[in-house]
Amino acid sequence: MRLVCPFDGAVVVDGAEPAPGACPGCGARFDGGAGTPPEAVAAALAAWGLAADPQDVAGRLFAADPPAPPAPALAITSDSRDGFYMWWVFARGEPAAALAALPAA
Ligand SMILES: [Zn+2]
Repeated sequence: MRLVCPFDGAVVVDGAEPAPGACPGCGARFDGGAGTPPEAVAAALAAWGLAADPQDVAGRLFAADPPAPPAPALAITSDSRDGFYMWWVFARGEPAAALAALPAA
């Protein structure tokens, strides 16, 4: 399994099962780890104590490109593994600020 940070391209996990944590390159927090984007968003929002509609946030994540650093931002990415993949949500800066900065779809 391999998980790469969508912000700086740092390899976050290589070979092991990813667990929620932070990017070793830019420090972005990540959480999720689910088979669909809305499920991954729901897990990340819950882990970060944020209330939002996961389906709506997932749609906005796919519609928006993250702003340049150091602006708070959310991004979604999938890991790579044999035959399937899991989705992960990354937050640069405080997750609440990153969610607030996410444009409407
Ligand atoms: Zn990173």
